[in-house]
Amino acid sequence: MSIKDFSDDTKVIKTTTRPDPETGAINPPIQLSSTFVQPSLDHFGKYDYTRSGNPTRDVLEESIAALEHGNRGFAFATGMAAISTAFLTLHQGDHVIVTKDVYGGTFRLVSQLLPNYGIDYTFVDCNDEAALKAAFKPNTKVVYIETPSNPTLKVTDIKRVVQIAHAHDALVFADNTFMTPIFQKPLDLGVDLVLHSGTKFLAGHSDILAGLIVTKSKELGDAVYFIQNAMGATLGISDCWLLLRGIKTLSIRVKAEAANALSLAKWLAEQPIVEKVNYPGLEDFDGHDLQFSQATSGGAVLSFDIGSEDNVRQLVQKLKIPVFSVSLGAVETILSYPPKMSHAEMSAEERHACGITDGLLRLSVGVEDVDDLKADFKQAFEKIEASQLQH
Ligand SMILES: *Cc1c(COP(=O)(O)O)cnc(C)c1O
Repeated sequence: MSIKDFSDDTKVIKTTTRPDPETGAINPPIQLSSTFVQPSLDHFGKYDYTRSGNPTRDVLEESIAALEHGNRGFAFATGMAAISTAFLTLHQGDHVIVTKDVYGGTFRLVSQLLPNYGIDYTFVDCNDEAALKAAFKPNTKVVYIETPSNPTLKVTDIKRVVQIAHAHDALVFADNTFMTPIFQKPLDLGVDLVLHSGTKFLAGHSDILAGLIVTKSKELGDAVYFIQNAMGATLGISDCWLLLRGIKTLSIRVKAEAANALSLAKWLAEQPIVEKVNYPGLEDFDGHDLQFSQATSGGAVLSFDIGSEDNVRQLVQKLKIPVFSVSLGAVETILSYPPKMSHAEMSAEERHACGITDGLLRLSVGVEDVDDLKADFKQAFEKIEASQLQH
C-alpha cells in the first residue's frame, strides 16, 4: 500500500509523520536553516535557500497535495498570500470571473488591487448558469469559486462550473477552506487549483495564519512555484510544523465539529426566536442535495437569523461558551456577526440583497459537548424572550 491508497484518516497521520533515518524521531524536524551547504562548485544539493525550498515545508506541501489529490502543494504566510499568488498566474489584459459571495479579503484583492495590474473582473452568481455564461469574455482565463459560501452557505455546482469554464478555455480555482479536503475534493470534480486559508480548519486552533495552494497539473504547479519563489510569501518554518500538527487531527476534528453543527442546526431550527437556519446538512436546506452530491458533509459552519440587531446584541452578552470573534474552523465554537465583521464594508442594501440580514449570526461549531452548547443558547434565548415580554 502506498500513501495514495490510504483513506484520509490514515493519510493525515502518514503524510505528517516521517521517521528520521538518522535519529528515529517520528516527527519531521523544524528545519530552521535559511541556507544549505552546497557539496561543490559543480554539484548542488536538493536545498539551497529556504524561500526556494525547505525540508519541513516540503512535508507540509506534500501532505496537502496528497489530501487534495493534487500534483503539487504550496505553503504561504496567509490565506490571502496564497490567493494573491494564484491570481498572479494571470497577466495584464486577462479577465477573471469571481463568484459573488466570495470571502471579503478576496473581494478586496480582486476589486481594488488586480485592476492596477490590468486584470479585469466580473462578479457573478455562479449558480445562475445564464449569468455565468454571459460573463465570459474572449480574455477570460479563470473562474474563481467558493462553496458553500460565506455566511449564507449557498452551494455552487462545482462540476457544472468546471464544464462551462473549460468549454471557454478558462481554468477553475476553488477556495476549499470551509469544507477541507476531508469533506470535499474539488480537484476530483475537475477544478484546476485549490486554495485554503490554513488559518482555519487545517491549523484548527486559532493560533497561526497560513495559506495553501494545490494544483492539478504539472504546468500550473510550475507556474505557482515560480511565483511562490519570486514573490516570496512563503510560510515560516515553525508555522509549517504547527500546521502539520494541526493536520494530524484534521479528520477527527472536522467530523466531530460537523456532527455538532448538524445537531445544533436541527435544534436551532426548532427555536421560536430563530427565523432561519442556513446549513447544507439540513435536509430542507436549498443546496442540501447538491452539497451531498459533491461533498460528504454539511461542514461545521452554519448561520442563523434571530430577527434583529438588538437580539444579536443581547445574545452576544448572554452566551457563555462561544467566543465572539471573527474567524472560523477552530476547536472552540466561534460566533461572529457578519454585518459588523466580515461584511462591514458592504452597504445595508448590498448585504440584504445577498441574504445577510441584520439578525444573521455565523457560527463555526467547535468540539465542545453539543448539549452544553444547546443549553447555553437556550438560557440566552430565554433571557432575550423575557426581555421582549417586558417591553
Ligand atoms: C479566512 C479566509 C481566507 C483568508 O485567509 P487568511 O489566512 O486570513 O489570509 C480566505 N478564504 C476564506 C474562505 C477564509 O475563510
